[in-house]
Amino acid sequence: MAEQVLCAQCDQPEYACTCERYCCLCLSQYGIRLCVDGQYYCPECREACEIPLAGTRVH
Ligand SMILES: [Zn+2]
Ligand SMILES: [Zn+2]
Repeated sequence: MAEQVLCAQCDQPEYACTCERYCCLCLSQYGIRLCVDGQYYCPECREACEIPLAGTRVH
């Protein structure tokens, strides 16, 4: 099984997290997804920083 990434704020996986989700870099609330470091990012910041989504295998 892939490592479970937990929300840095509530220690729950993305599907169970009820935190208000916004990008930790630009505070956007659009298209927010949990990433491998347990923080939420918008698509633009994810791409800019090359941060994989939670659940993505990192080689
Ligand atoms: Zn949370
Ligand atoms: Zn952002």
